[in-house]
Amino acid sequence: MKNILVIFGTRPEVIKLAPVIIELKKHNYNVVICNTEQQKELSNQTLEYFGLKADINLDCMRENQSLISVQSRILTALDKVFEENSFDATIVQGDTMTVLCSALASYYKKIPVFHVEAGLRSYDIYEPFPEEIMRQMTTRVAELNFAPTEKNKHALLKENVSPDKIFVTGNTVIDALFCLSDKILDSAAEFFERNNVKIDDKLVLITAHRRENHGTRIDRIIDAIEYLANEYSDHSFVIPVHPNPNVHDKIHSRLSKYPQIKLLKPLEYPYLVYLMKNAKLILTDSGGIQEEAPSFGCPTLVMRYETERQEGIDAGVSILVGADYDKIIDFSEEILSKPKNLSRLQAQNPYGDGKSSQKIVKIIKNYFAD
Ligand code: UDP
Repeated sequence: MKNILVIFGTRPEVIKLAPVIIELKKHNYNVVICNTEQQKELSNQTLEYFGLKADINLDCMRENQSLISVQSRILTALDKVFEENSFDATIVQGDTMTVLCSALASYYKKIPVFHVEAGLRSYDIYEPFPEEIMRQMTTRVAELNFAPTEKNKHALLKENVSPDKIFVTGNTVIDALFCLSDKILDSAAEFFERNNVKIDDKLVLITAHRRENHGTRIDRIIDAIEYLANEYSDHSFVIPVHPNPNVHDKIHSRLSKYPQIKLLKPLEYPYLVYLMKNAKLILTDSGGIQEEAPSFGCPTLVMRYETERQEGIDAGVSILVGADYDKIIDFSEEILSKPKNLSRLQAQNPYGDGKSSQKIVKIIKNYFAD
């Protein structure tokens, strides 16, 4: 039996790797789940929802951690994991510090690295920072690259990754959406009722957390939200606020006075999915939400200047507005001024069909068979 180490540290990694872990277990692989806990609470809370538990917890998170300190902590912690166990492969997902450190540590031990969500690129090393470099460097050591789309595959080919190491699989984030039972979604409805959050056809969901949006950009985003909340005060603006003090403190100090704006703690994954399912409009800088929202027909404004998820822009399911006050307002007004049913998306989700983890496990099986 093959021993496969799956490493993650943040909530989006858990969401995108959980369907892969579940599928691997169905095929009788011995899966060792390792959480670096780069984002301790969020990652553990989300893992529980999928009915999974980490075998190894590395407790690498500290308050206000610098990139250098978190890198050295994760690498040091992983050294012990690789010393004490023997693995046939390591699976990582995405572009966090956990991904880069895990890929490097695995490479140093000459254990093949399988990279889920490979080939996303902005080609600007400072946007997103530091994720662009994390994913580019992970590509250099990856043995199998699971590219969500053809565009991601071409990016890898352009970087001379061998074609037999690249597989277009769709994005596992869509698989995760299908893991949600109706019962869980019903409990989400009860949660919002208990918390006095109005869920109707005038729901606007907003999330902002990216490092590149800290500083003056988050100020401009808040200015735009304030304008929209005043102009469309019959709508309800729901913001699950990221705990990072750079966004948390500003959002709370400026927006908590508006009754039509609901500031919530980061939501458990099913609750967030319930909001996406019901939203009239989504404003976000999140990568995962850009991919998920089209599955629910909800138009999305992406508050970033670059996105490595161009497929959604090309398909017309999302629009890039940056942290630009006028653009955020203009595009939002186009949607908010009309009834919800007039702005639903017609296009299919370009990021996947919900079967990506099945495809990935099939490729892994073939790899070991060879
Ligand atoms: N998410 C969640 N609760 C929230 C905000 C986001 O469960 O309050 C989920 C979301 O559905 C998506 C993932 O977390 O699957 C995205 O994570 P995040 O926005 O933190 O990071 P990114 O995708 O930008 O790396």
